[in-house]
Amino acid sequence: MTTLNIGLILPDVLGTYGDDGNALVLRQRARMRGINAEIQRVTLDDAVPSNLDLYCLGGGEDTAQILATEHLTKDGGLQTAAAAGRPIFAVCAGLQVLGDSFRAAGRVIDGLGLIDATTVSLQKRAIGEVETTPTRAGFTAELTERLTGFENHMGATLLGPDAEPLGRVVRGEGNTDVWAASENTDDQRQQFAEGAVQGSIIATYMHGPALARNPQLADLMLAKAMGVALKDLEPLDIDVIDRLRAERLA
Ligand code: GLN
Repeated sequence: MTTLNIGLILPDVLGTYGDDGNALVLRQRARMRGINAEIQRVTLDDAVPSNLDLYCLGGGEDTAQILATEHLTKDGGLQTAAAAGRPIFAVCAGLQVLGDSFRAAGRVIDGLGLIDATTVSLQKRAIGEVETTPTRAGFTAELTERLTGFENHMGATLLGPDAEPLGRVVRGEGNTDVWAASENTDDQRQQFAEGAVQGSIIATYMHGPALARNPQLADLMLAKAMGVALKDLEPLDIDVIDRLRAERLA
């Protein structure tokens, strides 16, 4: 791989709370290891290239999220990339858009169907710090470190059998306990679930940006994009990140 191409998907509509920073973190962590990396911004005016090395989608407000869904559904490039197993990292509205359906602006909207998940509405907005332990499901088997982020959503996401949670909530709400109100109350995976892992997709409600707050998760995305094991990436010693994590996990 001569250049690692990182797709920043629809930053014009998806990118609340500095989620664009996830692509910056990936590029920086690649460059610090001597890997040539570039960010390709893909806006509502562009087609989504299906051959990028990894993809980042951020969060968004309801109307913005609907515009993103319409564009991605019509375009098809991200679906082709997912079918080819290219790594995709999606945050909040990004998670909901990749699922089967979500509610926004009073409507039920069909998502891309790349994650077996349905998002309904909460009575009360989930907002605040969230902390989880990784489930290490599928694509995330190599994760060992706690995950932290900031959540702010009205959506509550119920996972179907093809998706696994990314983390188990220690603090905060995560996907929220919609499982208790569903017909699947015997599905214990839903309890304290945060995010989703399905195929090459990792999705989460964690803003932050999440990859600045969770360097191991950033490196997992890079390792997957490069086709190497996480343990084979050269470690980076960045003091400010260690201090940030210590503060958030305190
Ligand atoms: N509009 C979505 C919700 O409220 C996503 C919000 C976000 O991305 N922060 O659930």
